[in-house]
Amino acid sequence: MAFVVLASVSCGAQEQGASPTTSVPVPPASDPAHETPRPVAVTPTPKPTGPPPFSAKVSRVTRDRLPYSWKAGCPVSYRDLRLVTLTYWGFDDKPHTGELVVRKTVTDDIVTVFEKLYDQRWPIRQMKLVDAYKADDYDSIDADNTSAFNCRRATGSSSWSKHAYGEAIDINPRENPYVTASGDTAHQNARKFTERPIKGKGVINPGDKVVKAFARVGWEWGGYWSGTKDYQHFSKGGG
Ligand SMILES: [Zn+2]
Repeated sequence: MAFVVLASVSCGAQEQGASPTTSVPVPPASDPAHETPRPVAVTPTPKPTGPPPFSAKVSRVTRDRLPYSWKAGCPVSYRDLRLVTLTYWGFDDKPHTGELVVRKTVTDDIVTVFEKLYDQRWPIRQMKLVDAYKADDYDSIDADNTSAFNCRRATGSSSWSKHAYGEAIDINPRENPYVTASGDTAHQNARKFTERPIKGKGVINPGDKVVKAFARVGWEWGGYWSGTKDYQHFSKGGG
């Protein structure tokens, strides 16, 4: 019986209508008629289209790529920095390619965290080097730009910022502002994001997945500082 079923399938149209009981029990291979290729209607099966998987590339950064953010006298040579080109999930619910510059010793940390964020579809507004804003931190923040390396002093201090070492990153700075102890932010467009916890796209709250993802690679969140809060800021080892 199993043979009959097989034969009726492989014979196709030629034996259509023949009932199993009238099939001739001859092995298909011995009948030349069976060697005739059976016409097959090819209907392309639409492949499920989904976003591409996360990808990241780490490359050396040339002096030309940092015309404003790096200068002689910075605490880290540009030769010790790396350009990380990676996929991020946008506020428009689509994948995008962004660029970050970080110290070469922390590229694995950054790739590990951003792969998690992408897989969780955690949204980021945009990600360009701060040089797109002539290394002006205020303008980059006002544009809600996520960026890392910038050879500058810490806010309100004469010491180098962790950003000057390529060991800090600011994420969605409009939704996650730098807030003074009295509750102020320098950015008008960030006023409604000064409280925590709050709901909102790209907002970082205490205990969030993004905070945990950074903590797992040893990066601390500025939202846990006492007094002044820097909700956009993560840095290797804190500070
Ligand atoms: Zn920062």
